[in-house]
Amino acid sequence: MRLIIMGPPGAGKGTQARYIAEHFGIPAISTGDIFRANVSQGTPLGVEAKRYMDAGEYVPDEITNRMVRNRIDEPDAKQGFLLDGYPRTLAQVEELDGMIKFTGHQLDAVLSVVVDKDEVVKRLLQRAQIEGRADDTEDVIRRRQEVYLEQTQPLIQVYGERDILVEVDGLGEVDEVTKRIFDALDVVPES
Ligand code: AMP
Repeated sequence: MRLIIMGPPGAGKGTQARYIAEHFGIPAISTGDIFRANVSQGTPLGVEAKRYMDAGEYVPDEITNRMVRNRIDEPDAKQGFLLDGYPRTLAQVEELDGMIKFTGHQLDAVLSVVVDKDEVVKRLLQRAQIEGRADDTEDVIRRRQEVYLEQTQPLIQVYGERDILVEVDGLGEVDEVTKRIFDALDVVPES
């Protein structure tokens, strides 16, 4: 299985990604998690990425693409993977197409978790308060949503035109959403 999970920041993608990946026995590859790990280890990649992340902007495609290419080349991803947070720009879509084509496989499905914008901003503000994420200010949270709408939302149409888009309502309890996702993915043939 080669899957992508998409949705605006705060849609609960990360949690769902872990369940789906476990179910299919494939790694969940979260670019945000890889960037954060690099930031906390203070690697050169982390130092570079942090500037963008703190501002709510995207890390440049060139850096992100190289990182994903390396991750997908690892042995555990040979049988498939679930990408969480990648691709996020049209240039990343093209790059990923090339990476997958090179392996002789194809994308099986792109899962889009659909949520209300105001609802996710509310959730993210609550989370920032509870977890004491001082740098997750309202401005940065709103900027991340704007960047998503400008740069990532258009990808939904691209995948829709390829007939591999699976849209799932992301509102409700975590396990309700998980069930909807599994029901929707049940009909996706494995390549
Ligand atoms: P996430 O946890 O997926 O929301 O990612 C956290 C931050 O990492 C994002 O706000 C971006 O700054 C950066 N990031 C993660 N994935 C990408 C990507 N595919 N392209 C560019 N930047 C990314």
